[in-house]
Amino acid sequence: MPKQKLLMIGNGMAGVRTIEEILDRNPDKYDITIIGDEPYPNYNRIMLSNILQNKMTTPEIILNDETWYTSNNITLHTNEQAILIDRLAKTVTTTKRNLTYDKLILATGSRAFILPIPGADLEGVLGFRTIADTEKMIEISQKYKRATVIGGGLLGLEAARGLLDQGMDVTVIHLADWLMETQLDAKAGELLKADLEAQGMKFLMQKATSKILGKSRVTGLAFKDGSQIETDLVVMAIGIKPEIELARHANLPTGRGIIVDDFMTTADPVIFAVGECAEHNGIAYGLVAPLYEQGKVLADYLCDIENTGYRGSKMFTQLKVSGCDLFSAGDIKENAEIKGVTIFNSIENKYKKIFMRDGKLVGVVLYGDTTEGSRLYNLLKKRRRTNRFHTCFTTSQIG
Ligand SMILES: Cc1cc2nc3c(=O)[nH]c(=O)nc-3n(C[C@H](O)[C@H](O)[C@H](O)COP(=O)(O)OP(=O)(O)OC[C@H]3O[C@@H](n4cnc5c(N)ncnc54)[C@H](O)[C@@H]3O)c2cc1C
Repeated sequence: MPKQKLLMIGNGMAGVRTIEEILDRNPDKYDITIIGDEPYPNYNRIMLSNILQNKMTTPEIILNDETWYTSNNITLHTNEQAILIDRLAKTVTTTKRNLTYDKLILATGSRAFILPIPGADLEGVLGFRTIADTEKMIEISQKYKRATVIGGGLLGLEAARGLLDQGMDVTVIHLADWLMETQLDAKAGELLKADLEAQGMKFLMQKATSKILGKSRVTGLAFKDGSQIETDLVVMAIGIKPEIELARHANLPTGRGIIVDDFMTTADPVIFAVGECAEHNGIAYGLVAPLYEQGKVLADYLCDIENTGYRGSKMFTQLKVSGCDLFSAGDIKENAEIKGVTIFNSIENKYKKIFMRDGKLVGVVLYGDTTEGSRLYNLLKKRRRTNRFHTCFTTSQIG
């Protein structure tokens, strides 16, 4: 019997991990083709920050080189974009060809969200998502001096640290009161800002950008409060937008992402979505750990292996900037039900806060010393009841 044709759109981290999981389970089940619009085999997007920070090179972040595809009989079309799905004919049209499928995986990821403000299309305004973006930033840093990063979240701060490493004078513009406000509380955000300032990073807080200035290339930024700064490069790091257009045009239900059930199946039983483009139970995840969990479930499903399905993930965050050790997981907003307990060692600048609801650990923020991170994260995942906060902080840490 001929093998079923499994076609995947998107040659990124979640999609290719799913294919690896399928090959582990049943290497002979499918005739696999992958379409990727970037000109590279699958690479570790997370490590783009390390390239910008001069810690790694592009060849070092390749996860699966061309040999891996050929040795696993996978047909890879790089530099090629899928532009249309015909669900009736079960075909995908790309910029170069028509392909048929029996099963189709959408693993199109996200793109950087670019603020829709005047000047956003000027030369020197970039997102931070791809090898191409990273190379462009490095190229600009060799000609120009001043960089501005819009967004003081994880991605923005990693970009800013990288641009400092490229020798640029870097200012981070942030709308909220403190940095990484969804992962850190105000105190940890302040400690982080102080450490980054000591590294040479500048900040403009509570600033809303209204316009990017310049004729053909960027020369500055204007803010809603009437102030302006000069800059030669703008990196927008204000969030991601799941890539759902293909699915939307194919009349598959979408919200923030492509809506899937517990088996990563879309409304069409032969079309699946995995990774940042997928929305499960109202959530489109933006970190790899949950996406890899989704990949395992989908691989089981596609290989007819029993699985209870994907039930959502708990996530933790770490920042890849030397000298700023932080860890954050779970619910960290205090309210009538969630209460926080803080320990701050001001001599060593070590800050720890745990968040409890009904006697159970629901969130954690660590700054300065993250050694307890994985232990607390495991406690949090188990939703263990702890009546005394000693269970969460060892006696030596409290003292
Ligand atoms: C600088 C940076 C640092 C990060 N750091 C971390 C971190 O520390 N920890 C963490 O967990 N996560 C981190 N992430 C996020 C992580 O990289 C993503 O969650 C992960 O890459 C998502 O995998 P994906 O396969 O869903 O999407 P992607 O890896 O983006 O892959 C999707 C691929 O599909 C392609 N594509 C889209 N549409 C089409 C089309 N129509 N035709 C053909 N190809 C198409 C895209 O070009 C892309 O190559 C970071 C991301 C960046 C950018």
